[in-house]
Amino acid sequence: MLRFESVALRHADGTRALGGVSLEVPAGQFCVVLGASGAGKSTLLRTVNGLARPTGGTVRVEGTAIGPKTLSRIRPRIGMIHQQFNLVARSTVAENVLCGALPAMPLWRALPGLFTEAARRKACALVEAVGLGEEHLLRRVSELSGGQQQRVGIARAFMLDPPLVLADEPVASLDPQTSHDVLSLLRRQARERGATVLCSLHQLELAREFADRIVALRRGVVVFDGAPRAFGAQAFDAVYGRHADAPPADAADPAPAWQPPPSSPPQPLPGGLLELAP
Ligand code: ADP
Repeated sequence: MLRFESVALRHADGTRALGGVSLEVPAGQFCVVLGASGAGKSTLLRTVNGLARPTGGTVRVEGTAIGPKTLSRIRPRIGMIHQQFNLVARSTVAENVLCGALPAMPLWRALPGLFTEAARRKACALVEAVGLGEEHLLRRVSELSGGQQQRVGIARAFMLDPPLVLADEPVASLDPQTSHDVLSLLRRQARERGATVLCSLHQLELAREFADRIVALRRGVVVFDGAPRAFGAQAFDAVYGRHADAPPADAADPAPAWQPPPSSPPQPLPGGLLELAP
């Protein structure tokens, strides 16, 4: 479904955001990208929908390499859920959910907001599916709580029944109980539709509870890849250890970042830890 092939991204100022990530996410998996702030989680997700362009390597969705020529075709196949919800605050819940259909609409329908009857019905059904009653349909988003707004964000993401959903720190601004409810909802909606989810989180407890698989990043490099139950103390140190926040030694070094050897991808150690080149 989703494949990262030695994906690297170095910003213009020399900051290395991704240092050669190789990863395959099979269809239907709820894969959590875990890491401390600045680890590269958001950048990794953004390379999938073209919001960040890798400086090395290739990202493939359903076998198609992401690039300027393929993006418009692939974007309707990807739902996106944002940390700050990215809703139009002054528009209604229904209007915001309908916006999820825009990537698949021709410009002449999209600009004046000429949504089909089927799209309107779908939006209503999704609003109900995410636990907001009919009475919320015409409410302005600005009147909703954070948790309710993220429910709207989830409904919008599923408007086109995308096989792949990216969720970038979807609960970072929510309280613990609401975070739990929202992730339960996201997982349920994805499972019902067979959708693959790549979800970034910085909270280990939530990753452990909701992930089928945890891929942990540190300084743009995968340091753990395995089942949540395999994420032990050693993995915790690798991800959040005392050097985790230190700037990488080669932050401004123009030399290429670590890359897995082309013929042998990084080998998992017992417990999912990956052996990294020195
Ligand atoms: P995370 O999502 O894990 O918090 P990010 O992917 O946002 O991490 O950032 C990865 C790294 O890239 C960080 O060191 C961050 O400071 C850096 N970074 C992000 N955007 C830019 C930018 N536009 N220019 C330079 N560095 C950036």
